[in-house]
Amino acid sequence: MQAKIYDLHCHSTASDGVLSPTELLSRAAEKGVNVLALCDHDTVDGIAEARLAAKEKGIGLISGVEISTLWENRGIHIVGLGFDETHPKMTALLAQQAEVRYQRAVQIGEKLAQIGIENAFEGAKALACGEVTRAHYARYLVQIGKVSNDGQAFKRYLSQGKPAYVKAEWTDIPTAIETIHQAGGISVLAHPLRYTMTNRKIRQLIGDFAAWGGKAIEVAGCGQTMDQRQLLARWANECDLLASAGSDFHFPCAWLELGKSLFLPENVKPVWDALEIEL
Ligand code: AMP
Ligand code: MN
Ligand code: MN
Ligand code: MN
Repeated sequence: MQAKIYDLHCHSTASDGVLSPTELLSRAAEKGVNVLALCDHDTVDGIAEARLAAKEKGIGLISGVEISTLWENRGIHIVGLGFDETHPKMTALLAQQAEVRYQRAVQIGEKLAQIGIENAFEGAKALACGEVTRAHYARYLVQIGKVSNDGQAFKRYLSQGKPAYVKAEWTDIPTAIETIHQAGGISVLAHPLRYTMTNRKIRQLIGDFAAWGGKAIEVAGCGQTMDQRQLLARWANECDLLASAGSDFHFPCAWLELGKSLFLPENVKPVWDALEIEL
């Protein structure tokens, strides 16, 4: 029997994905995904629709969210899996994060206006169905011809140290972990190798995350080398953390796909053994 395919990190139009939750579940079914977690940035607004679509497609759905946090002045993402998305502590934290996100989006628009790019907030907002993220600003900058792709928009305007960068006062890691656990879920450190930090610093982050009660880290992602996956597996075991797998899919593209090459190394404990899967 072929192993089940779990993809426990992806995005919909509720944040910066380009597929609606229904379209996302259709694509997941086409790609042979058996269990999916929708983890939009700081919102659970897509989950109800995803749940209905998952039932129709026979896919197991796990509630999810990707919470933005600050750790030593850096943006770190904490995924929550399998929690009650109506829990008042979760709802309150996400409402606070949405306010932070909105204020920051307005300020990014002001910074762009200062360098001659007018009405960018309105432009980015028009491209968003839900939360306005920097990805929407990047798409707007491409649309008006300021840059030729999203990566360039981050490099020239939106990344830390660039003219339209605004630091957001996100919550901290212990609060994210605690809120996810209070809502009955499992906390996961997202894509540890995607932060611009040395391996030594990443290992320190994973140690802090575990010491604060964090439960899992993402070990399998799309486009990794085997060495990277093995390193993450080793760190998971050193810190007694479960291992998760997720594509971080945002839109159809050549280099990343729902459910693609998300197998876990054999020496780790899969996070899904600790999750109840809605079927
Ligand atoms: P935000 O949560 O508003 O800070 O937006 C962050 C999102 O922007 C990430 O989740 C990615 O989807 C996207 N992003 C971040 N860096 C890049 C990059 N260099 N190129 C393309 N997209 C990026
Ligand atoms: Mn994103
Ligand atoms: Mn992320
Ligand atoms: Mn993500």
